[in-house]
Amino acid sequence: MQVFRTGADWNKIRLQFIQSNKSIGLVPTMGALHQGHLDLVKKCGAQADCTVVSIFVNPTQFNNQEDFEKYPSSVKEDLDLLESAGVHYVFLPEVGTMYPSSPVLKLNFGHLERILEGAFRPGHFNGVGVIVSKLFHIIRPDLAFFGQKDLQQVAIIQTLVRDLSFPIEIIVVPTRREEDGLAMSSRNRRLSDLERKTALIIFESLSVAAKELKEGKEWLVVQEQIFRQFQEQESVKLEYFELVEREAFEIKKQFDPHQKMAICAAAYVGEIRLIDNLIINS
Ligand code: AMP
Repeated sequence: MQVFRTGADWNKIRLQFIQSNKSIGLVPTMGALHQGHLDLVKKCGAQADCTVVSIFVNPTQFNNQEDFEKYPSSVKEDLDLLESAGVHYVFLPEVGTMYPSSPVLKLNFGHLERILEGAFRPGHFNGVGVIVSKLFHIIRPDLAFFGQKDLQQVAIIQTLVRDLSFPIEIIVVPTRREEDGLAMSSRNRRLSDLERKTALIIFESLSVAAKELKEGKEWLVVQEQIFRQFQEQESVKLEYFELVEREAFEIKKQFDPHQKMAICAAAYVGEIRLIDNLIINS
């Protein structure tokens, strides 16, 4: 496994893959890796000839400075994990490499900016769009892998690829969960033992809501009942719990079994903000 830090270094390495017509797969991450990230890596290994994993905690996508400063980092362990997983290259850039100057360009993703993560994290998707565009330009992969865990981010990346004609195939990988159902996340490392147990309410609520919808209960009734349950938990604050149609990525007030739907949730457990979602019908 080889670590490189600049686009110029990658251009030299990349030549051999271009000359031999080999495909390049990219897995963008912010490090503090877990099995969910490794699922993306595995999928990339199965579909592309060469796997590149990027590790970069992107400052411009954090709308909360403390969240950025406390974002977990474990580069040494990450590199060991990636080496064992058979990764060929790791892109580990400095902030100054990705941002020689502060970008003035602003990306606007329309209605996606006004709902869920877009509404609760102003500027977040602009940061995501800019950094992913930079990674796409620097690495120039044929395929790029993203997790269903960040479902709205998938819609953002698909918009980016479509509207800017990136010649890249986007592959979405299912959410990896802990044994009890909690979605794996780098931020879980910051939860205390008690918070870790409390955090399970997010997955449990998604599961109960999905079951009740399938049984024919009205969405607005289900949603209200979930908000009431969260209010009983002092250490958890539910930001949103919404039914979404996945193709157009729009909030819906009624469940339609003929549409591709998901329930998306975000909640603070103590100081830690967690998101999760459940696909109801594929
Ligand atoms: P992050 O390092 O959190 O920015 O995540 C990097 C990539 O891994 C993103 O495409 C995420 O959606 C994906 N990812 C994060 N957590 C999970 C998970 N539990 N299961 C599957 N993919 C995940």
